[in-house]
Amino acid sequence: MAVKCVFCAIAAGEAAAAVVYEDDQVLFFRDIRPKAPVHLVGIPRRHAVSLASVQAADAPLLGALLAAVPAAARRAGIGPGGFRLISNAGRHAGQEVGHLHVHVLGGEPLGPMRC
Ligand code: AMP
Repeated sequence: MAVKCVFCAIAAGEAAAAVVYEDDQVLFFRDIRPKAPVHLVGIPRRHAVSLASVQAADAPLLGALLAAVPAAARRAGIGPGGFRLISNAGRHAGQEVGHLHVHVLGGEPLGPMRC
C-alpha cells in the first residue's frame, strides 16, 4: 500500500490538525511548530510536491490556494498589520514535507526577512 504523506492525511481527515479554513480545493491549519504568534500552513487538497514541480495546468489550483490566504489569515486572527507568505521548495529551502504548501506568518511585526 502506498504511504500517504502527512498533509494528504490531514486533507483526508485521517490525521488531526487545527484547521482554520477549508474549501473543496484547499485547507489551512496551524503549524505544530509555530515560528510566529500566528503560523498557518496552507495546502492544496490534491497532492503536488512543491512549487518547483508545478506546471501551467496547476494555475487554477495555485490561484485557489493564494486566493484563500486572506480569509484564512483573518480567521486565524491576523489583522490589518498583514502577514508574510513563504513556500519552501526543495532541499536548499529546507522543505521538510513533500506536499506543496505555503506558510502564512503574522500576529506581530516580523522584521526583515532572513534566510
Ligand atoms: P517545510 O519546511 O516548508 O516543509 O515546512 C513544513 C511545516 O509543516 C513545518 O513548519 C512543520 O512544523 C509543519 N508540520 C509538519 N507536520 C505537521 C502537522 N501534522 N500539523 C501541522 N503542521 C505540521
